[in-house]
Amino acid sequence: MTRQILSTLLLSATLLLAGCAGQTPSPAAEPESSADSSAAAAETTAPAYITADDSFTNLQLDTPAMPVYDSYTIAERRAKNLPTQLPQLTPYKDGKVAYLTFDDGPDNKNTPAILDILKENDVPATFYVTGAHAELHPDVLKRIFAEHHAIGNHSYDHDYRKLYPAIDGFLGEMQKTDDIIKNIIGVRPLILRAPGGVIGNFTSAYPPALAANGYVEHDWNVSSADAAPGHPTAQDFIGNIDSQTDNKDFAIILMHSSEGHEETVKALPEIIRLLKAKGFSFGVITPMTPQPW
Ligand SMILES: [Zn+2]
Repeated sequence: MTRQILSTLLLSATLLLAGCAGQTPSPAAEPESSADSSAAAAETTAPAYITADDSFTNLQLDTPAMPVYDSYTIAERRAKNLPTQLPQLTPYKDGKVAYLTFDDGPDNKNTPAILDILKENDVPATFYVTGAHAELHPDVLKRIFAEHHAIGNHSYDHDYRKLYPAIDGFLGEMQKTDDIIKNIIGVRPLILRAPGGVIGNFTSAYPPALAANGYVEHDWNVSSADAAPGHPTAQDFIGNIDSQTDNKDFAIILMHSSEGHEETVKALPEIIRLLKAKGFSFGVITPMTPQPW
C-alpha cells in the first residue's frame, strides 16, 4: 500500500514537471481573419453534446464520447436561484478509453491542424482553452465545438500569480473565462483543468470551492511532455505516450495546441495509430469521467 502511494506521488511529481508552466498568449498573435470563419461554419450537423438541465439531473451519461455543457454561467444560475453544485455522479468509462487533451489554445495554426487530423481519424478530443486565446481566436473555438470535441476551462491567461495565492482569484479567473467561452459558443464548460495541475498548486480550500461552483477538475495520468524544456521532438512525445500507456486501460493524455507546438501536430497521427493498435477507443472529458489517479 505504502509503495503504491509512493509510486503515485513519484509519478505525480514527474508529470507535474512535464506540465505546462506559465505560458501566456503570444503578443504577436493576430486576431482571426474573416476568411477563417467559413471553415468554422462548415460543420453544421446536429449538435452531439448534452446541455445540463436546470437542476443537473441529466448528467449521468453512459457514453464517454458525449461532451457536456451548461446553458448558464454560475452567476446566471445564482440569479435564477438554480443549483450550482453538481449532484453525485458515478464515474463512467466503457472499456479501454484514451482521452486526448490539448491545453493552452486555441491558436490559429496548430489547433486547426490538430482538428484536421482528428477529423481524418474520426477521433474526439478535449481542448482546455484559456480565455485570452479564445478571445483571440473565436472562430477556432467555434470549430472545436462544432466538430463535437469537448471544451474545458483553463483560466484566463495561465497566470499562477492570480490563480494560486487564493481560491477567490482562481474562481474569478475561471468565471471570467466562462463568460468569454459562453459569448462565443453559447454554452459554458463544466470541466476545467488547473494550469500546471492540482499537485503543488491547490490548497485544501480549492476542492470544496470548485465543487460548490459545479466545476469538475481533471489532471492527467499520461504526459507527452510536449511542453518540457529542451525542445523535445515528435518522436519523444510518441515514445512517452507509448511507454506510459502500456499497462493502462484508462489514459488521460496531456498535450498542448498553442503556439510553438508544431511537433505535437507532427506526432499526433502516430499517437492515434498506436493507441488504436493497443485497443483504445477515444472519449472526451465530462463531469462523469473518472479521475486519473
Ligand atoms: Zn496549461
